[in-house]
Amino acid sequence: MTKDKSAANTKYKTILFKVSGEALMGKQEFGIDPDTTARIAADIAEAQKLGVRIALMVGGGNIFRGVSLATKGIDRVSADHMGMLATVMNAIAMKMALNASGVEAVVLSAIELTTFCETFTQRGLDEHMKAGRVVVFAGGSGHPFFTSDTPAALRACEMKADAIVKGTQVDGIYTADPKTDPSATRFDTITYSDFLSRGLKVMDTSAVALARDQEIDIVVFSLKEKGGLAKVLQGNATCTTVTV
Ligand code: UDP
Repeated sequence: MTKDKSAANTKYKTILFKVSGEALMGKQEFGIDPDTTARIAADIAEAQKLGVRIALMVGGGNIFRGVSLATKGIDRVSADHMGMLATVMNAIAMKMALNASGVEAVVLSAIELTTFCETFTQRGLDEHMKAGRVVVFAGGSGHPFFTSDTPAALRACEMKADAIVKGTQVDGIYTADPKTDPSATRFDTITYSDFLSRGLKVMDTSAVALARDQEIDIVVFSLKEKGGLAKVLQGNATCTTVTV
């Protein structure tokens, strides 16, 4: 079966998969858990076999978040530079895990770190995607005062993705935080404008606004279940879709 034929059976054909740094910690309190990166890489390998083109944007919160140092009086711009470097470490870890799963992958960084990885260019992105590689975006937007959500949406636009698929610790978007409010209920779908007007915190508003303008669906699902990404692509996952 050709890749394209099987891709015709999936809900989305090109996705930007956003994985927060925290998700890479596994049960650890800090850093990168190799079992977890291997699990996520195996999920990506499975999804790729469905014929879906996948790029990954990783956060850095398992190592460093600029805002945490900024609250202690440290310069926010420098602190965010450190946060962006944390995302590069995670991206390299995910590239290694993908390679170990038999998936060809390349790290494209928004900040120049040419000894370690390639620098993002649109041309490079197009070439690697065309060659069937999983592109792992590092360094967020390359600019402070963002988290990795907004560059995830930006890269999704640049690669003409059908969806931003965000793996989290929770299986979708709820009316309130289900960890603290037992009466919270999960949305199956929610419109971009409803998401924004309710002030929901699952994704940065700038990322949601960008996705809305380009009509790119956002799917939020739980990373806890093995094979969850393939289920999202096959349309049978427990998740929430933010759409028009
Ligand atoms: N960051 C940044 N600009 C970006 C993306 C990330 O300055 O475009 C910095 C920021 O300090 C952020 C940190 O990198 O706190 C880690 O990213 P993020 O908070 O998105 O990690 P996640 O929550 O996804 O683990």
